[in-house]
Amino acid sequence: MIFKSFNNKTFKNTPYYDRLPEGEREVFDILSTVFHFKANNYVLEHLINWDEVPEDPIYKLIFPRKEMLSAFDFEHLKQLFQLGMDAKTRNSFVQAVRKKMHPEVKHADTGYPEMDGKIITGAYRNFPTILNLFPDPMVKTCHAYCSYCFRWVAFDNVEAQKKTAYRDPYDPIPYLKANPEITDVLFTGADPLVLTASKIKEYIDPVLEIESVQVIRFNSKALAWWPYRFTTDKDAEPLLELFEYIQSKGKHLNFCAHFTHARELENDVVKEAIQRIRQTGAVIRCQGPLVKGINDTPKDLIALWKHQIANGLVPYYLFVEADHNPESCFRVPLAEALRVFQEAQKETSGLARTVRGPVFMNDLNRVLLDGVTEINGEKYFVLKSLQSPPETDGEGKIKLIPYDEHTKSAGDLFELFKEEKVPLAQMH
Ligand code: SF4
Repeated sequence: MIFKSFNNKTFKNTPYYDRLPEGEREVFDILSTVFHFKANNYVLEHLINWDEVPEDPIYKLIFPRKEMLSAFDFEHLKQLFQLGMDAKTRNSFVQAVRKKMHPEVKHADTGYPEMDGKIITGAYRNFPTILNLFPDPMVKTCHAYCSYCFRWVAFDNVEAQKKTAYRDPYDPIPYLKANPEITDVLFTGADPLVLTASKIKEYIDPVLEIESVQVIRFNSKALAWWPYRFTTDKDAEPLLELFEYIQSKGKHLNFCAHFTHARELENDVVKEAIQRIRQTGAVIRCQGPLVKGINDTPKDLIALWKHQIANGLVPYYLFVEADHNPESCFRVPLAEALRVFQEAQKETSGLARTVRGPVFMNDLNRVLLDGVTEINGEKYFVLKSLQSPPETDGEGKIKLIPYDEHTKSAGDLFELFKEEKVPLAQMH
């Protein structure tokens, strides 16, 4: 299969646009002017079940939904369409709406590594042993866009990309050398595996020379959105050779695959892609969010984990969907998320117990929603910090917050786990 990409304009020339129910067509026309839309021929032809649209989970995973905008903004945009305004005239309102929708991603100032008094652009360190790297070519795009992605502001936005990515592959190297406690280097962005193997190698090679770095990690949804990347694409072999090359340098290659729904693992091509990656010696660990209307039942999670185990993958994290979007419509109430996760765990093989969840993951903390407890007749959610920023002492700590059946928020997790480190001198 040859890769064909569709944006909000070219999608309308496909027969699938005509298959959208009328109301959905209108939602697509309106919302795809605000949010970036990208699909490809594999997703359209082999993943979405068009007989089930709009309820199909993969359709929901790709296509924007009405609730992503406030009712006011949606109606306003709808009126502009009904008045027959052209794209240019609508643009100022669209830009204003986009601006309002900018996700507020909370960063710890201390997460930006510095060297000789200068911040290293394109690097972020929220945990002591991991450095996240955003090479400029890796932050551009993915094989398709997920409706719930909060990184959409950076797509097609050269300014945003410049501020958050680095160009010279040697930029983070002095910092890595000066901080040998960093053992894991994570290449992320949008999807790093969209790039050619030779371009990826340019950025990896300098890191491979650092002895203290033991793990190279990629976060990618390529297996779900475009498995041909590892099978018949002309750059498939060079990419697999790169995976072997990384390991020949004595590094562990951790391929973190983003899967949301069992359907993404059902086609033969994805199974073949997985086998080819595993044959290189790489370990594939799976993570993804729990998303309302897509995978929020025990049945969905059981099917997802069963497919992962059957294909030799390691279930890793089930995240609580981010709440960066103020009108967030993807997050499941915490009580429900916990119930779904726990019920699913009871019915799966012990091998699926490697998955941790539901886990809040932001740029500051990794916090597990570990259960519900009752003290003096009052119910509480139990939260456990799995990882915290290096300047705090929150890691491993347990906190209780009042139980609320309907809440979708655990409050400010940074504040909750912001325990100051006690200097060693004061401990004696
Ligand atoms: S693959 Fe990842 S970065 Fe790309 S749109 Fe989906 S969630 Fe966002």
